[in-house]
Amino acid sequence: MTIDIPTLLLALLSGYLMLGLQLLVARRGALRQPELGLWTWGSWGFVLGFGFFGARVLIPTWVSVLLGNAFIFGGILLYVIALQRFVRRPWPSGPYWLVWLAAVSFTGLMLEIPLSVRTAWLSLVYAGLLLPGVYLVLRHGWGGEASLRAVGLTLAVAALALILRGWHAFTHPDQYTDLLRSSLGQGLTFLCAFLSLMGAGFGFVLASFERAATEMKRLASHDGLTACVNRSSTDDLLAHLLERGRREGSPVSFAMLDLDHFKQINDRYGHQSGDAALRAFAADVRGRLRASDVLGRMGGEEFGLILPATDEPGAMRLLEQIRQAVAALKVRCHDGREFGMTVSAGLVVVASDSGLSADRVYALADKALYQAKHAGRNRVERHLIMPMPAAAD
Ligand code: GH3
Ligand code: MG
Ligand code: MG
Repeated sequence: MTIDIPTLLLALLSGYLMLGLQLLVARRGALRQPELGLWTWGSWGFVLGFGFFGARVLIPTWVSVLLGNAFIFGGILLYVIALQRFVRRPWPSGPYWLVWLAAVSFTGLMLEIPLSVRTAWLSLVYAGLLLPGVYLVLRHGWGGEASLRAVGLTLAVAALALILRGWHAFTHPDQYTDLLRSSLGQGLTFLCAFLSLMGAGFGFVLASFERAATEMKRLASHDGLTACVNRSSTDDLLAHLLERGRREGSPVSFAMLDLDHFKQINDRYGHQSGDAALRAFAADVRGRLRASDVLGRMGGEEFGLILPATDEPGAMRLLEQIRQAVAALKVRCHDGREFGMTVSAGLVVVASDSGLSADRVYALADKALYQAKHAGRNRVERHLIMPMPAAAD
């Protein structure tokens, strides 16, 4: 079976054209991630690259070769940069810049040498360009968006096909006298380019969608500034964990934490520094919690802390630690000034059989917080809820 190269070239050209057009349209709407922008321009690189290859029946061959390869080169490069941005990793260490340098410095010489040598060389250059992207996705992107795996795997296959073509062109120069002539290497490479269009081209778009959907889900339940769960999720979680404590016979501790004189911090250091203080506070507290504990932002500078299966001494120890740590925390303003803050807390320890509703627990924690504020701030007050006395028969 021989693979007809001009037909595949036409399929590639129209496929990348569709992808490029659809991405251009989609990016005018909600999909504005910069990585998707790079992917869009990368796809147009392929459209132009394959277009110039196919246009050799109309334009001088040297123009087709130079511009075709330049745009394919740019397309691959943009794809790999997009992948690097997507997985948020620096480039893998290694002499990859050497590959680029060699590729660029070679461009001027490409026309002077036989097609088979040029094919072998460019195949290896393209494979070398793809490999960092493949490495990043397989090594760092595998646990993330599932669609990204298709991108990594198809690009890996494409890189392998290119290496094979490089070797084949080198060992069978007679089969590489014309770009559009069918041969094992040419057929395989153009087929893999088509696979990459399907697997990598569309896979990356799907991965971007996946990420956007995950982010929207997160924003629906979390606070954007501090990354704590938001008020309504905290409400739900408190009701759920109280019920669970009841079933499992374990106490649940709930504390309201409120930063002291926070208005003054805003007035003195600016709202931005106030935001930085809220972030620093939340990050510090979260760093001291167990995986099952929940820190929710109830609004403004008020936080709710749910500690499942935690009794009064355990909760007091943690809150005291938090109080001291917050008092020792330093936040730096954009103008270099440093400031500190303190926090007051009201704790309620709910015995498993107290039968209290989440609303009531809130109200009691709020009351204990009010007492802490009244008693001078930077302190923890508690309110214990005893088990309900056994009902008399
Ligand atoms: P107290 O010790 O009694 O709690 O005094 P306070 O100043 O902390 O309390 P108050 O409720 O009077 O003020 C809370 C302040 O928190 C007012 C508001 O501007 C500020 N605040 C609320 N949300 C945010 C936010 O998201 N960012 C910043 N920077 N400030 C916020
Ligand atoms: Mg306050
Ligand atoms: Mg407050």
